Amino acid sequence: MEDSITVCQDTEEVIDVIRRMITERSLYQNSDDAFYVMDMGYQVKMVDQWKRLLPKVYPYYAVKANPDPVLLQIFAKMNFGFDCASLHEIQTILNLNVQPSRIVLLLRLCTKGLTDSITGPMADKFGCPRNETSHLLTLAKNLDLKVVGVSFHVGSLGATADSAEVYARAIEAAKNIFSEGRALGFDFEILDIGGGFPAKTTVNYSTLDFNEVVNIISMSLDNEFGNDGTFQVIAEPGLQFAMPSTVLVANIIGKRRKPSKGDPMSDESGMGFDYFINDGIFTSFLKYALVPDVTPVVKPVAQIYANVPSHTCRIWGQSCAGNDVVVQNCKLPEMNVGDWLFFTGNGSLYTTRSITSASPTSNPLCGFVHLCKSDSE
Ligand SMILES: *Cc1c(COP(=O)(O)O)cnc(C)c1O
Repeated sequence: MEDSITVCQDTEEVIDVIRRMITERSLYQNSDDAFYVMDMGYQVKMVDQWKRLLPKVYPYYAVKANPDPVLLQIFAKMNFGFDCASLHEIQTILNLNVQPSRIVLLLRLCTKGLTDSITGPMADKFGCPRNETSHLLTLAKNLDLKVVGVSFHVGSLGATADSAEVYARAIEAAKNIFSEGRALGFDFEILDIGGGFPAKTTVNYSTLDFNEVVNIISMSLDNEFGNDGTFQVIAEPGLQFAMPSTVLVANIIGKRRKPSKGDPMSDESGMGFDYFINDGIFTSFLKYALVPDVTPVVKPVAQIYANVPSHTCRIWGQSCAGNDVVVQNCKLPEMNVGDWLFFTGNGSLYTTRSITSASPTSNPLCGFVHLCKSDSE
């Protein structure tokens, strides 16, 4: 694991590290495999922000967002909790010597309908509608079940983009459910405000500002619960950590020119290119195949001078599958086989390992370089 960690100079930019890693990997490992660069300084800064901005909310990192072992170790050392979704994730976290009490595995309130603007898989797939909570609580009481709290998730990937108010509405609803539950004699111990927190990234993730979300959450908790210290408030941030901090670097292994004018892949000069890279939708780009409204952002690793013309192109994955298209339509200067491309905002895409691996020791799909810088932006 050590040799996956690289310490860089404060003056070095991520692109400099990418170029250096390409050279080093080629010289010392004879490798032109695709790899990731993850900025660990960003993670540390975000953990600090959480502690400073939301001191009353205990964060549990959603492991499925990116189960990278170095990232998990940093969270473990910085006293984060872990939100696990499978036995394998629980085992991974226990192997880091994390106290089981720091792992959370919970009535989930559906945030859809609480404001007009909520859409998206998290808010759609899980949770019970507000008008069913009384019935469910009574049912739980009759069945002698123990209900310990309320959780909600406002939705990932820009689902909350319209308004941070959804957190206020959900916390207000949670307060009413707490009252109903307590009236029935339940000891409510937990309010889980879920994930879906925004982060600045180069992909179209969310237009919400984290500071605004934080202010609304703090105000709502104060308004609804005041000094009620009888329960714990937790959150489950995932993509906010995983997504903006990671860059995928891939090599061009094939090229095809599409010269015919009128072809939708050709630009005005009649030139268009297909490029094939050594990664694809079955590995790093799985998430993009699942979330079609988010498109990867791609750039050449080599320095491009202003006067070099760019051409319309399509980027294909390396598999034999006909639908393995990574980017349908983008503009790049003419590239050649052996050249490198990098994709930003890819951190959360490295998730197939947590979803598919039956074995905890399965190999990573790609190399992973962890970048540590003392003054990370
Ligand atoms: C995926 C998930 C999260 C993390 O959501 P983000 O949108 O990545 O912040 C939190 N809680 C649960 C239960 C999840 O399944």
